[in-house]
Amino acid sequence: MAHGDGCFVIQKNSESKKKMYDAIVVGGRCGGAALAMLLARKGRRVLIVDQAQLPSDVRLSTHLIWHAGVDRLRQWGLLDTVLASNCPALTDFSLDMGELVLRGRPPGTQVGAALSPRRLALDKVLLDAALQAGAELRQGITFEDVIQQDGRVAGIRGRLQDGGAFTAQAKVVVGADGTHSRVARAVGADTYNEVPKESGSFNIYSYFSGVALSGVEFFSRPERMFYAWSTNDGRSVVGVIQPGQAPRPARQDTEAYFFKELDTMTPGLAQRVKAGQRDDEWLSGAIATFCRQAAGPGWALVGDAGVTMDPVTAAGISSALRDADLLASLIHQGLASPDGLDAALAGYQTQRDEVSVPLLQLSQEMGKLAPPTEDVIKLFMALAGNQPQIDRYYGLFAQTVTPADFFGPANMAEIFAAA
Ligand SMILES: Cc1cc2nc3c(=O)[nH]c(=O)nc-3n(C[C@H](O)[C@H](O)[C@H](O)COP(=O)(O)OP(=O)(O)OC[C@H]3O[C@@H](n4cnc5c(N)ncnc54)[C@H](O)[C@@H]3O)c2cc1C
Repeated sequence: MAHGDGCFVIQKNSESKKKMYDAIVVGGRCGGAALAMLLARKGRRVLIVDQAQLPSDVRLSTHLIWHAGVDRLRQWGLLDTVLASNCPALTDFSLDMGELVLRGRPPGTQVGAALSPRRLALDKVLLDAALQAGAELRQGITFEDVIQQDGRVAGIRGRLQDGGAFTAQAKVVVGADGTHSRVARAVGADTYNEVPKESGSFNIYSYFSGVALSGVEFFSRPERMFYAWSTNDGRSVVGVIQPGQAPRPARQDTEAYFFKELDTMTPGLAQRVKAGQRDDEWLSGAIATFCRQAAGPGWALVGDAGVTMDPVTAAGISSALRDADLLASLIHQGLASPDGLDAALAGYQTQRDEVSVPLLQLSQEMGKLAPPTEDVIKLFMALAGNQPQIDRYYGLFAQTVTPADFFGPANMAEIFAAA
């Protein structure tokens, strides 16, 4: 994989406590690095801490960034660097439902494409940009708890890899530490709209080379969603999503299980995948999905720490970038205003949830992989041949058309009238 030249500033001392940062961001991947970059670009003093050594890949991710996320990368001046990691622009989308295939392109986008850069590439571009903007990075530090002062969060305590203690102080601590966020636990953030992982989707996938694909391909079958798209260096991600409660293969049987399902349900894709070769291990997993309280005195959450969506809609990265954008503006505004940070962060949850909750609910509904209802079947039949509305359907996932707009009575009436 070709990457740009990045500079990683790794400070060796374990005493950041004498410095007062504007923000400490726990977690330096897409949510955290984007937030740190935006704050540092606004002149804020930012420390990123991460327990991992970065850059490194995220194994449980199929990497798809839909249009809203790609547009944001462009707006931040990072699109060319991501493209230079050798991942193709994905412009064409298809959903094969057996008798009906919907092909389209989401409307309302600047770049007009999705991308699927391996996280090694994406997270590095964002982190490099954060460091270039002046953020500091401390790797190999595990966040353990927040430091409280006068009833508000005022810093963090962590553990170095050699077991030593680490502390640092800041006006705000942001948990960008993923779905199992320890920051969220430390501050006691409430959870809502929760669906356990057994009721969501279970994902099985791997990387292949030599597979001929036409953009982003989905295949909806009874209790299954197969998918395939290109990532870096001529490789493709190919996988199947099934209900979390459906029987799943033992690890050593994954290959046989996957190809039996592919052969039976999508023989055309099976043929193309078999013409290539698998060049990574099989990966699989399921996650619980939810929203968490977004902020409190001296703290906030961003990315999966705040909202974890079902991977079936591949919305997590684009959502993390959007929430980082929103949170950076609010923190900057709060630090600059006499009303202070808490007043600025008071509206964060409402603004985040206005966009995120409908997307979360869409992902949770689709993650069940339930048989389509009569109404859903009628909707897809009505969409056939209506290209603008098929494009708008893809806009739901590209995050350029809201679920309220698409499924609202006016749009439904228009679709059925046209049919
Ligand atoms: C199977 C699967 C497939 C997916 N596919 C897609 C997809 O195609 N498209 C998409 O948009 N989304 C996808 N997602 C979701 C996507 O991976 C997440 O939304 C995204 O990674 C969230 O980014 P983040 O920065 O919030 O957190 P993460 O990427 O989880 O990063 C969190 C960081 O915090 C650090 N950290 C954690 N705890 C600590 C601690 N105590 N101390 C210090 N550091 C800590 C970690 O080391 C890590 O670097 C998928 C998820 C799954 C499970």
